[in-house]
Amino acid sequence: MLNKPQLARIRAYQTPSDAMAAWQVFSTFGLYLFTITAMYAATDISVWLTLALSIPAAGLIVRIFMLQHDCGHNALFRSARFNWFAGGACSLVTLTPFAYWRRLHARHHGMWNNLDKRGIPADFYSDCLTLAEYRALGPARRWLYRTTHHPLLIHMVLPSVIFMVLYRLPFDTPRSCRREHLSVYLLNFSLVAVFTTLVLAFELSDVLLVHLPSIALAATIGIWLFSVQHRFEEAQ
Ligand SMILES: [Zn+2]
Repeated sequence: MLNKPQLARIRAYQTPSDAMAAWQVFSTFGLYLFTITAMYAATDISVWLTLALSIPAAGLIVRIFMLQHDCGHNALFRSARFNWFAGGACSLVTLTPFAYWRRLHARHHGMWNNLDKRGIPADFYSDCLTLAEYRALGPARRWLYRTTHHPLLIHMVLPSVIFMVLYRLPFDTPRSCRREHLSVYLLNFSLVAVFTTLVLAFELSDVLLVHLPSIALAATIGIWLFSVQHRFEEAQ
């Protein structure tokens, strides 16, 4: 819990500043597009130079995801419409459908690691057992739990699968959530259009070299950040 002086200090950030938000969106997208352009230019010079540039590109993708997150909370701009527009633009870079993710994320805030609300598919990282529950398992189920929660799997393999594959289908969202479903298919369609254009303009190998490592690295950093922000010393 925050104490009174801490609460007073963050109160200044409770109301969105449109000017600051616009600057953050334009500067981050500007830097991202600049970095991607430099990466395409670098493909003619060296594969290693292009790969080295995927590190700042990944950092910028993570930052764009943070902006999308704030739009998802209707907190970046004062206007809901601006948040929807900016969130949708971010989704083209983060590969994360805005309305679909927004719904899942609201659920995540509502039930993250709430032991009374388990059994509802929230997200991969809020599924946990208490120590007593783990100890009560037999050897085979303990092995299964340890394997499916292994750091190499959930921090190195799954992040890319989540952003590149799982976010392409709204499998965990009821059909009645039409707007959320639409956001997934609309983003898929937009991504096909963007990447088809890029492949026609450059070579497929260059497009893969520029985008795949930066997206994979951003997914890994993003999930790691997400994970450490929700685990702390008192947690068991
Ligand atoms: Zn949030």
